[in-house]
Amino acid sequence: MKKYAVIGNPIHHSLSPIIHNRLIQELSLDAHYDAIQIDPERFDAEITRLKQSDISGFNVTVPFKERIIPYLDEIHGLAKSCYAVNTVVRENNRWHGYNTDGDGYFEALMDIYKIHPNDKILIIGAGGASKGIYLTLKKRSLARIDVTNRTIQRAKEMLISREDSALSIAEAEARLSEYSIIIQTTSIGLIETKDQLPLSLKNLSADTLVSDIIYNPFETRFLKVAREKGAKTQNGLSMFIGQGALAFKYWTGITPDRKLMKEAVLEALSK
Ligand code: NAP
Repeated sequence: MKKYAVIGNPIHHSLSPIIHNRLIQELSLDAHYDAIQIDPERFDAEITRLKQSDISGFNVTVPFKERIIPYLDEIHGLAKSCYAVNTVVRENNRWHGYNTDGDGYFEALMDIYKIHPNDKILIIGAGGASKGIYLTLKKRSLARIDVTNRTIQRAKEMLISREDSALSIAEAEARLSEYSIIIQTTSIGLIETKDQLPLSLKNLSADTLVSDIIYNPFETRFLKVAREKGAKTQNGLSMFIGQGALAFKYWTGITPDRKLMKEAVLEALSK
């Protein structure tokens, strides 16, 4: 039996086992996907033990996407440029690190929007997910992308093009109506901060597509306010499905049925 897992801390809330085990069951694969909580204090010992086991691959989530890197043999593509790994593949006993968050997001966006070269995009947040999304959008579109973040220095450090700007939260709020897409990537809106907004949407235009990469809550306060102002909105579920589907393909070579993955998540969230 092939073994897969997601590692993180905390990990009990992760829906990755739900989507992967549903695919495994549907495809009648001899495999299983677990959630493994790793103690940050014992990271070295626990990763060493995991690599000595018969695991074929694993996902990595908060807070270990960077910390896993020294334990891998090769880092590929986006994982290298944004120094964050969310998918590990064992091949001939060598450990390969990939990042599927950026493409997972991009594919989800493409499902509902075709980016035009004249589009201006605003990304809120400058953490690991933001960086992956920013670099993927730069690679796959000609749009100009500004980044705003509580810590503006982090936004400045991730930019790779002179035409993009790092903005303070107040600057971004004032210029909000200029953007055709706004992507919310901070952790503001998760259960602990569910009543907060990362910035004010007072100047939002109803023509703007507003996207939040959080999917639990299913509609963050940010998305609710945007929807009430007439904007089209997208939550983080399709990105989550997209990153999982790409990871599954790395491990098995199979392009999975995303509809099935989505059904499995919606079923779990409704419980
Ligand atoms: P991260 O690297 O820790 O970055 C966190 C970001 O949130 C930073 O920009 C940080 O700003 C900001 N932030 C945190 N607390 C804040 C506060 N109280 N006020 C203002 N800003 C705050 O995390 P990440 O890996 O990028 O993940 C970010 C979010 O994306 C999480 O909610 C995660 O669940 C979600 N995510 C979703 C998917 C998906 O598949 N849908 C995939 C990956 C991540 P500073 O720089 O100022 O600290």
